[in-house]
Amino acid sequence: ERRWRHGQRILRKFARDSATPVAKLWHIANQLASDMQEGLMSSGDHSNLSMLVSYHAPLPTGEEGGIYYGINLRGTNFLIIRARLDGKNEPITEIRRKEVPIPSQIMVNPDSTKELFDFIAIELAKYISVHGETEIARDKKLGFTVSIPVVQAPLSSGVAVKWNSLFVDDTVGKELAKEINQALEKHGVEMQVYAVVNDTIGDLAGGRYYSKESVAAVTLGMGTDVAYLESPQQISKPLSESPKSGETVVNLQWANFNSSLLPLTEFDVSLDAQSTNPGGRIFEKFIGGMYLGEIVRRVLLKMAQEAALFGDCVPPKLKTPYLLRSPDMAAMHQDTSEDYEVVDEKLKDIFEISNTTPMVREIVAEVCDVVAERGARLVGAGIVGLVKKLGRISNKKSVITIEGGLYEHYRVFRNYLHSSVWEMLGSELSDNVVIEHSHGGSGAGSIFLAASQTQNA
Ligand code: ADP
Repeated sequence: ERRWRHGQRILRKFARDSATPVAKLWHIANQLASDMQEGLMSSGDHSNLSMLVSYHAPLPTGEEGGIYYGINLRGTNFLIIRARLDGKNEPITEIRRKEVPIPSQIMVNPDSTKELFDFIAIELAKYISVHGETEIARDKKLGFTVSIPVVQAPLSSGVAVKWNSLFVDDTVGKELAKEINQALEKHGVEMQVYAVVNDTIGDLAGGRYYSKESVAAVTLGMGTDVAYLESPQQISKPLSESPKSGETVVNLQWANFNSSLLPLTEFDVSLDAQSTNPGGRIFEKFIGGMYLGEIVRRVLLKMAQEAALFGDCVPPKLKTPYLLRSPDMAAMHQDTSEDYEVVDEKLKDIFEISNTTPMVREIVAEVCDVVAERGARLVGAGIVGLVKKLGRISNKKSVITIEGGLYEHYRVFRNYLHSSVWEMLGSELSDNVVIEHSHGGSGAGSIFLAASQTQNA
């Protein structure tokens, strides 16, 4: 009984420390907005946000039409994507995807971009010869986006480490395009890459195709990232040469946002200290799919150790870092069965914890709720901060495109996110901020880029 009360105390304290009342969300939003401003001025050296121009080129107008190809490079594989656009903001159709694994000898060598590009060119040539149109317009562009998991770099491949550090600067993307184009030409692919970009920019391009009011794209998966449209006058750094009608996309890198206003708990402190990048990417550690389950696990472990939540012995598997992944956390959280049967099943499967009572399972679900609610509301605050920075809150509509498994599949998280924006802005102003899911699914941003680059470059 006493232990039970102690368990409740741990939960209540955790919930209190994690609280994100609207006033706090506004402080955080304002802080982000001013950090963004500072990041733009200081060209990335002194602010915690390194706000570099990551793409300076045309984005879709919505009039683009035709069949387009894209490549979406991921950690251990890439996607070849082919789809049709019909202009007039008509939806993307006839999407075909092929996933190609990258041979490990190419992947482990961080200096092997040439081999990687050769491999991609060969596979693309094969794909087009089998599935492709008989004729591809000579000046057609190939969209090329990269979405390499941005977290836990030491655990990912050599290529991933190299590529992670690249996707900030627009000039790097254009240089890489040259290398790819050599490979494409060598292997007889009659398309050219205009620039290699982070796939968040592809999602922004997708948003633009559908709506002129699209101003930002957010990735919410394992990690998190934001690309948004900035007015060139705001940027102190000189811009590279660009074609006519170039737009300026800044990679916000809000994963790195940090502020004493963030609702840091003892569990976040220890998670960060024991992470592979202590002190780094703090905002991501609150909201990334990579971390949500791990925070839950840490809270449960403390409750097991100090309040015998799961009986006299601490279940050994509960001590394994990162064992609880966010899809399992979501399943427990969203368990609506009477006796929390899903929680029971997940505890057994993941942690080998059996014989829990419904009361204990309810506590587990509540811990998930606290973690998800906090993360989702912080994303909401981030979005409001961004829109505020753009000066669009009270007078203009802004469309924000979100892509990523966390947003797409974690319903309660998504709902918390939407309601936090609504709470912050009130019913009238919140109509100005439209949050939508990205178009065409994973990697489809490359198609929108290909289209706008072909049409408008
Ligand atoms: P990436 O791993 O490149 O971020 P995604 O955008 O597909 O790829 O996101 C995958 C992440 O989304 C997973 O690692 C997980 O954190 C989260 N996720 C996927 N499905 C679910 C789900 N059903 N519930 C909660 N989170 C999920």
